[in-house]
Amino acid sequence: MSSTSAHDRTAGSVPPVIIRAEGLSKAFTAPDGSPLPVLDNIDLALREGEIVALLGRSGSGKSTLLRCLAGLIAPSTGGVSYRGQQINGANPGVAMVFQSFALLPWLTVQQNVELSLQAREVPEAERTERALKAIDLIGLDGFEGAYPKELSGGMRQRVGFARGIVVEPDALFMDEPFSALDVLTAENLRSELVGLWEGNEAPVKSILIVTHNIEEAVLLADRVLVLSSNPGRIKAEIPIDLPRPRDRQDPRFESIVDTVYGLLTGRSGHGAEAAPHADHEEARDRTPATPVNTPLPVVTVGGLAGLLQILVARGGEDGLAELADELNFEVDDLLPLVDAAVMLGLARTRDARISVTPEGREITEADILTSKQLFAGHVAKHAPLVRAIVQALSRTEDHTLREGLFLDLLRRGFSTEEARIQLDTAIDWGRYAELYDYDHNDAEFTLEPGAQAHL
Ligand code: ADP
Ligand code: MG
Repeated sequence: MSSTSAHDRTAGSVPPVIIRAEGLSKAFTAPDGSPLPVLDNIDLALREGEIVALLGRSGSGKSTLLRCLAGLIAPSTGGVSYRGQQINGANPGVAMVFQSFALLPWLTVQQNVELSLQAREVPEAERTERALKAIDLIGLDGFEGAYPKELSGGMRQRVGFARGIVVEPDALFMDEPFSALDVLTAENLRSELVGLWEGNEAPVKSILIVTHNIEEAVLLADRVLVLSSNPGRIKAEIPIDLPRPRDRQDPRFESIVDTVYGLLTGRSGHGAEAAPHADHEEARDRTPATPVNTPLPVVTVGGLAGLLQILVARGGEDGLAELADELNFEVDDLLPLVDAAVMLGLARTRDARISVTPEGREITEADILTSKQLFAGHVAKHAPLVRAIVQALSRTEDHTLREGLFLDLLRRGFSTEEARIQLDTAIDWGRYAELYDYDHNDAEFTLEPGAQAHL
């Protein structure tokens, strides 16, 4: 007999919706008081029997969306319902597992797990029984009396899972639950989770997992929702109809991963799925690029130069997955470098491949002085923040400006922390290009002679 799983879909019947978001938007307030849109018009439904992965880059609003769905924060507009009822406060159907293990250090494993039940006013005897069962299920039998500091990271995260499943939630929410673990531990925990899910042992009806890791999403989910950035919108939905446990070497697995790479790098040629995104790209082309609507990818000049060198050495073109493999990184780690190269016109991406442009090749093969000159031309033209700094400096009499001006302007679109990171990136790029100098003691920019020629 084939394994009958409660998660199997009966042909023809659509499983009931557990949680639904409709027209959900969320804006925070920037330090200067202006709105900072993070999520825009999100519609989604989480149904019984499915694992859904929410995939997007860092800062795209994944955690914010999860918190809205869990009722921990209120959306600015739109709403969230649980089993058809609009929620107004904590969502009673949700239990959360966080990236950082969030365990109380003075409580034992068992006490930490029981805590979730205490909050739900479960009587003591039942608390103990259910906690021990969850601890056993999650592979921590024998560690009931241990304290968090006595456990490895992987074991602590097991306690995190036990805390989530012990309340037997309709929906288990996980916010990057494996990303603080080493690769091997993460892999083990992931496959155990799949095992529990497939065996119907986990007392949960659905799972919503947030991740920035493409392979993780494709390994786990029945559907992947790809979130775009600035503001976060659902840009594509990719159903994954592969049996579990999934094999990374399976050509179908690789092909789905490629599709998602293409979507995340933003220049996919994948038919219908990419259509909404194509509109988005056009819209972006019509609006002029500003330091706020076109942030600098946070990479160093050295990193960018390295990427181009490797690309040239590999014949000028490569798959992003192959390139990441070669460098022993995840594709996700590579994306900011790829974005920077594309922004500056030094590389192009198509689907999940990257190729160096003639300009990129020229810069890589030139001697250092020529290379700097060429780089200066590209950043002054294509990196909006660097360009804005050069322009502002050339308008002052002594060609100097305090950084505060730029920080204030950046805070119209970024948090204080992100504004600083943007400015530091512009300092690195502009200094290397010898467009301007930056004095750390005075926090002041000075225009370099000849910089204006690049505008
Ligand atoms: P992700 O989980 O995808 O990395 P987040 O949801 O954490 O993204 O954050 C999305 C954006 O919202 C970021 O720019 C972040 O700085 C901003 N943000 C998140 N929480 C707050 C908050 N409480 N106040 C202001 N800005 C916030
Ligand atoms: Mg997050």
